[in-house]
Amino acid sequence: MPSDFATDAEAGRWNYRPPEPVALNPLFAWPPKPLAAVRWYRAYWMALTTSTLTVAFAVFVFFAILPPLETMKEWNWDWVLRVYLANLVPHCVCAGLLHYWLYMREGQGSTFKFDARAQAVDNGTFSFRNQVKDNMFWTVASGITVWTAFQLPVYWAMANGWAPAFLFPEHPVWFVLMFPFLVIWSSFHFYWVHRALHIPWLYRIAHALHHRNVNVGPWSGISMHPVEHVLFFTNFLIHFVVPSHPIHVLFHGYMQATHPVFSHSGFDQLYVNDRERAKMGDFFHQLHHRYFECNYGTVEMPWDRWFGSFHDGSEMATAATRARKKRMHA
Ligand SMILES: [Zn+2]
Ligand SMILES: [Zn+2]
Repeated sequence: MPSDFATDAEAGRWNYRPPEPVALNPLFAWPPKPLAAVRWYRAYWMALTTSTLTVAFAVFVFFAILPPLETMKEWNWDWVLRVYLANLVPHCVCAGLLHYWLYMREGQGSTFKFDARAQAVDNGTFSFRNQVKDNMFWTVASGITVWTAFQLPVYWAMANGWAPAFLFPEHPVWFVLMFPFLVIWSSFHFYWVHRALHIPWLYRIAHALHHRNVNVGPWSGISMHPVEHVLFFTNFLIHFVVPSHPIHVLFHGYMQATHPVFSHSGFDQLYVNDRERAKMGDFFHQLHHRYFECNYGTVEMPWDRWFGSFHDGSEMATAATRARKKRMHA
């Protein structure tokens, strides 16, 4: 860590900035750092994090809401509606509860809040002149609809044997490995889709809607233009190639769509009863929303480091990002 990180000017630009520079998944470090990689995965998968929560959702919804694959061989509204509810209900419960706790009840005040500002009201940038209503509208009307529309053909093809599906006891090792694999796949896919969305004409048509949110909140997670949703949810096409279980498809959806509810929450940690904490926020992506031309990917794959757009939260990185932005718009 550079010795001046704790005291540099960037610290003063945030209500809360994590005490260490943003770290990237050490699995891709060179020279290899196997111990650090083990610690990274242990922290993500062996504690209460958004990763374990999304696995829990996938297992619960598989048994409680999703119809059995056999019933999805023929199209009918009953199972289509259940797939839609399997996405709508967990997503809105998470975003709704989190928004209520953090922004309405102000349950933890501004503790661990990155940006001191409240969500925007009476602001013409947003649909309905209100950031939260704008975000809720685009999330539900476009986000959850397009998310469901991309999953439906996957289930239908799995049920008919046109997409490679397997049931749990057949391949237990692959069943488990598929979860971290999907996280890496989704990071890879997101980086390239997101880079494309920052091409100026596509940015204007589509991605600007998500970037209305400089100061993000839980409902900002998948508040996007329909064109962006269509690109964003092509991630599910992997299930036509890689053998998976319906639980993986559910998990993939929650990781792609509901995880952003937490990563856009605007808070680094969830803090209940003054002590119980869960890692929640994503300063890496918060920096993207404030400075735009940095951190296009996620911390799970170091694309931004490889292509020189990585912002670790330091003053130096802000200066580099501003210089790059100037060059891009020159
Ligand atoms: Zn962006
Ligand atoms: Zn975002």
